[in-house]
Amino acid sequence: MTIDIHIHLDEGPYNNEYLKKIFHYFLEKKYSSKTLDVNIKLNEFKNIIENNGYDKTWFDLYLEKAVEKNLKVVGIVDHMYRFKEFKHYFQKHIVDDVYDYDKALSDIQSEWLDRVCVTSFDQFKEFIQSEKQKWKDHGIELLYGLEVDFFSGEADFLKQTIECLDLDYTIGSVHFYKGFGFDNPTLKHYFNQLDLDAAYTTHFETILEMIRANIVDIIAHVDNLKVFQFEPSNMIKDKYFKQISLALNDTDTIIEWNSGLKYRYPVQQSCPSQKDMEYFIKNKITLSSDSHLYDDIGYDVELKENYLKKLGVNEVYYMVRKKEHAINL
Ligand SMILES: [Zn+2]
Ligand SMILES: [Zn+2]
Repeated sequence: MTIDIHIHLDEGPYNNEYLKKIFHYFLEKKYSSKTLDVNIKLNEFKNIIENNGYDKTWFDLYLEKAVEKNLKVVGIVDHMYRFKEFKHYFQKHIVDDVYDYDKALSDIQSEWLDRVCVTSFDQFKEFIQSEKQKWKDHGIELLYGLEVDFFSGEADFLKQTIECLDLDYTIGSVHFYKGFGFDNPTLKHYFNQLDLDAAYTTHFETILEMIRANIVDIIAHVDNLKVFQFEPSNMIKDKYFKQISLALNDTDTIIEWNSGLKYRYPVQQSCPSQKDMEYFIKNKITLSSDSHLYDDIGYDVELKENYLKKLGVNEVYYMVRKKEHAINL
């Protein structure tokens, strides 16, 4: 096991799964054999929630799992939409602009944004920085980055924003099609009214625009629009995967092989799928679980490493403050 460069701490109080996991941790794992005052348990629980997951007790579970999975490099990224500093950016693209053509969608996403955008980038950064030495003592390089949402036409804004942030690295993502958050399970029915070829064309063109703008270190889950099994035609996929591979090489950008959709969404495939990774074997590749909770850290990383080796890929890559590093598989 080597690297998992895409882990979130950010499924905060808005997610029932997150709450269940914390309860599970306290009741089954941490205190199962102890009879501690209920107030102590409740206080620790309250601290994790109030700190938006940036809590040493909670984060130790991540460390425990990373050690168990024998990871050497771990990258924590949180979504840009979690941070109040960037709320205006999402307010524009997923609420205000959407209002003009779909008021109901705009209202749903406005409520969602209020629920998820509750923390600050500085709180996140300071917390991860304060944990680095502990992880180093366990032989793990801990990094912090930002999962940057790219919207067409926003390269200049993002470039300026990223430059001011003091980040170890950035991952660039497309999670919205014309402002519609397509990986939100409550909005899945919107796919029924989409022209899929048009949607995939726009999605891949947006990814190409992001790569060519050269503003992020790693490109995330390149074909995540397939999340609910509405997949692209082979013709469109073939055309764009070839173009994306060339653009990645031209700009020396890393592509991640991301497991998130494989274990968390109906499509049950990585991004790209195992077969489609063949389009990208000439590119610099990194590996990610896209875990949103500690127990999914390192998901499939070993399996992916073995498969890459079979394809003749012997190194995976990551960036720290614009300096490239390679790890032998
Ligand atoms: Zn993502
Ligand atoms: Zn992610």
